[in-house]
This record gives sequence, structure tokens and C-alpha cells, in this order.
Amino acid sequence: MSKNTVDVVLIGGGVMSATLGTLIKQVQPDWSIEIFESRTEVATESSNAWNNAGTGHAALCELNYMPEGKDGSLSAAKAIDINEQFQLSRQFWAKLVEEGVLGEPSSFINATPHMTFVRGAENVDYLRRRWELLRSEPLFADMEFSDDPEQIAEWTPLLVDRRSKDEVFAATRSESGTDVDFGALTRQLISHLVSEGAALNLGAEVRKLRRLDDGTWDVYVRNRAGYTTSIVNAKFVFVGAGGGALSLLQSSGIPEIKGFGGFPISGKFLKTSNPEIVRQHQAKVYGKAAVGAPPMSVPHLDTRVVDGEQSLLFGPYAGFSPNFLKKGSWWDLPGSIRPHNLGPMLKVGLSEFALEKYLLGELLASREKQMETLREYMPTARTEDWEMIEAGQRVQVMKNDPEKGGILQFGTEVITGADGTVSGLLGASPGASTAVYAMLGVLRKCFPEQFTSSWEAVFAENIPALKTGGLNDHPELAAASLAHTSEVLGLTRANADTAV
Ligand SMILES: Cc1cc2nc3c(=O)[nH]c(=O)nc-3n(C[C@H](O)[C@H](O)[C@H](O)COP(=O)(O)OP(=O)(O)OC[C@H]3O[C@@H](n4cnc5c(N)ncnc54)[C@H](O)[C@@H]3O)c2cc1C
Repeated sequence: MSKNTVDVVLIGGGVMSATLGTLIKQVQPDWSIEIFESRTEVATESSNAWNNAGTGHAALCELNYMPEGKDGSLSAAKAIDINEQFQLSRQFWAKLVEEGVLGEPSSFINATPHMTFVRGAENVDYLRRRWELLRSEPLFADMEFSDDPEQIAEWTPLLVDRRSKDEVFAATRSESGTDVDFGALTRQLISHLVSEGAALNLGAEVRKLRRLDDGTWDVYVRNRAGYTTSIVNAKFVFVGAGGGALSLLQSSGIPEIKGFGGFPISGKFLKTSNPEIVRQHQAKVYGKAAVGAPPMSVPHLDTRVVDGEQSLLFGPYAGFSPNFLKKGSWWDLPGSIRPHNLGPMLKVGLSEFALEKYLLGELLASREKQMETLREYMPTARTEDWEMIEAGQRVQVMKNDPEKGGILQFGTEVITGADGTVSGLLGASPGASTAVYAMLGVLRKCFPEQFTSSWEAVFAENIPALKTGGLNDHPELAAASLAHTSEVLGLTRANADTAV
């Protein structure tokens, strides 16, 4: 067994570790960073382009960020919050492009209008009221609404072709939407980290974490080649292991992980690369979730741009496997059960009937039934044009709740040890899009003194929205930031049209 001491260990080669490492290098270029990735490549799990939907989540099209209250009321607060978080990512990526850290922007981000499409008079009314509220918000200023079939067909004909004449439907559209290849982004960030001196260990699976009396951590690593074990001593450990994070945080023994469990939901997408179909659809079109369906299961018909190739995805369809990682093990779910999370997990199991019904329906759905769901968005869809692909595993957070005993949470949860020497990320949504926001949060919590005394100022130079605490309250800054990041990231429609 060998033993080294480093400033930072990042567990997992996904977008979260890649983002955190890049942020740390900006403020502490002298810190040693060691990355451990159990696979032989980085970005093969959730951050891989084909394992997620690539939506740059900015609440432009996702209705779950602006649900209607029981009394019909609507609030834009959550949608603005998510959009603000995405603007941090846009500004950060734009700065990295300017500095040459990230390469040609179209290799990881492409302009793709974000649309919402609903059917039925009630839903149309809701969508119109949502648009009326949002369009006066600076970050949503470009949002358009239409219930005119001709206009919607001009935006994207596949939604309208062969739809019945008496059907009532409407759509909104924001040109500022994006499609992001988080896998390409991750690879570029990690490659830059390595060029700056970070050590990348592939085929290196972290098995457990042990805290030493001096506050540092022993990280136990099993190397796939030769099945040797090494121990690396670290001052700070970030568990960016995606579905592998829960078990590692449990192994650390920190009390903050008590009461947390994970519930895996697999994602699947229908995909077509038929150029005739792909050519007709340039948008990410989100619909409304089925009753009981978790928010991330909202159906969407998406343009994807991966490795310069365009395709369309529709989904996600849900599946179930007890694996916490796509390439995980059936033991992941049962092996995560502890006396402290059994209660909350049982409570969730006994209360989430709508979700269980939804999942069962998804598991039993035939191929034709799956195609029927697609035809609600694209009436002309032919079975032979579409293949089903397996996406990533989302491990939803189950946690203790003082009132209900246990709740299922669809967002992300950062778990941090009390002394700030270990932190990890559980959950999935809004996910990779808000990696910059989430990782700044980790740094603020784990290094409060350095953050306020010096780091914050450096980050604010690179991410100007941090200076004003956001953009939406500053219409001129919001417009300027959208224009600047569009320019640098090549997101202006003129660029996008030539890219297609
Ligand atoms: C179906 C689906 C659709 C999604 N759609 C979107 C979307 O449209 N937009 C969006 O913003 N987000 C989306 N997400 C969420 C997004 O993909 C994730 O939030 C994000 O990729 C998580 O990044 P990560 O770095 O935490 O995890 P990952 O990318 O999963 O990386 C974790 C890494 O850790 C490694 N690892 C695991 N255990 C160990 C260990 N013990 N030792 C060493 N290495 C280990 C894994 O091999 C993996 O490489 C989606 C997710 C899914 C599953």
C-alpha cells in the first residue's frame, strides 16, 4: 500500500468534479488535485451526452418550475431562480472559452429554442398566463406565445403535421434555449485540469473514506489494473461519484448523511437520426407531466447535437433497476439500506402511490404504447424510424422528514461534513446545467473564510452575475449578459442556422 497527501481529492470524473476542480484551480492554482474515476474514461455515467437529455435547464420550457397553485395562482420565483443559476454556467463557460480552456463552443453547446407545448383549453389557459407573467421578467424577455397552428408549425412542423383540426393547443418559444453536451464539456474541463497539474487516475475505484484524528481523510482506492489497493491522504474530499456518492458518504461516517437513502429511476429515450425528420425539428419541446409522474419525467421532443451530428430524442421513459450507476450493481439499492434510512425509505414506499403507479405503467408499456406517447407530440411518428436507447440512472433522494417521516426529493442535495473537509452531491435535478451554482455552494460552505476574503472576488471577475447577486433584477445587465454569452458561445441564431 502506498500513501500520498494531497490538498483535494475529487471522486468521480463527471461534470460536478470537473467543474469544482476548475473553480478551485482559478483561486488556488498551487493546490494539488487528484481525481479518481472508477471507469477507464471520464464522463461515461450521467454526464455522458447519451445518458442525459442535454437541456440547458433555464426554466424557459419546463413547467415544473412554475406549477399552478390549487387556487390557480402562479409565481415566477422558482423559474427565475433556476434561470439565474443557469446564467452562472453560461458566464463561466463563456469566460473559459475566452481563455482557451474550453474549445470551439459548438463542441459542447448549441443554440436550440426551448418550447413548451400543451393541449386542451385548461392547459392552454395556464400556458398563456405563465407566459404573461414571465415575459415581463428580463431573463425571459424573448419568450413568445402562440395558439395559432400555423405559427407553431412554422416554429416546428412536426408538432402540428396531421394533428386533428379541432384540437386546441398552444406553445411558447424562447430563442435563448440551449442544447449542451455535458460529456464533451466534462472531458474538456478535466483535460485542462490535467494540463494544469491535476493527477487523473482512471480505473481507480474509491471504496471507502476514513477520517483521521488530524481532520484529514484516508481515501481507499482499488485500482482495477492488478486489483491493488492504495490509500491517499487528503485535506479535502469531494464525492462527485453520482450514483456512487451515497455509499461513499455513508462510509465516511459523517452524521450529516444519516436519514438519507436513494431511489433509482432509469431513463430511456426514443432516438431517430433520420435526416428527413431531424431537419424538420429545431427545438427542445417540453410538455406537461402525467399525473403522478416525477417532474423529470415530463415528456420532451428534443434536438440533440453530439459530436457535430444532429438527432432527435423523445422521452424519457422510466425504467427500474436497483443499480445506482448505469454500470453499477444490483446490490446498490439493498446495500444502501441502513438502520437510520430504513424508516424514511419505508415511509416513501408507503406514500408515493402515484409514482409507483406511474413506474409500473412505464415498465409494462409495450413498444406501441411508447410510440403512442410520442405521437401525442409528433402525430406522424413511424415506429421504424425510432430506436430505444438506455440513458443514465437517476438516484432520487429519500430523506428524513420531521412531519411525514420520509420524503422523496427530486432536486439535488449537497451533503457536507460539519468541519467542511468532505462534501458530496446526491440527486439529479436540475443537474449538470447548474453545476457551477452547486459547486460554488460547496466551496462557500467548505471554505467560508477563503471564500469571503479572497475567492469570491476572483469568481465575480469570471462570473459577473455574482457581483450583483443575479441578473433578473437588473434588466440592462441581463440583456447584456445574454448578448455577450450568446456571442462568445456562438449561440446567436445566425450562427446556429449555419451550424445546422
Ligand atoms: C435520464 C437523465 C436525463 C438528464 N437530463 C438532464 C438535462 O437535460 N439537463 C441537465 O442539466 N441535467 C440532466 N440530467 C442530470 C445530469 O446528467 C446529472 O446531474 C449530472 O451529469 C451529474 O454529474 P455528476 O458529475 O454528479 O455524476 P456523473 O456524471 O454520474 O459522474 C459520476 C462519476 O463518478 C464515477 N464513480 C462512481 N462511483 C465511483 C467510485 N466509487 N470511485 C470512483 N469513481 C466513481 C462514475 O463512474 C462517474 O464517472 C439528467 C440525468 C439523467 C439520468
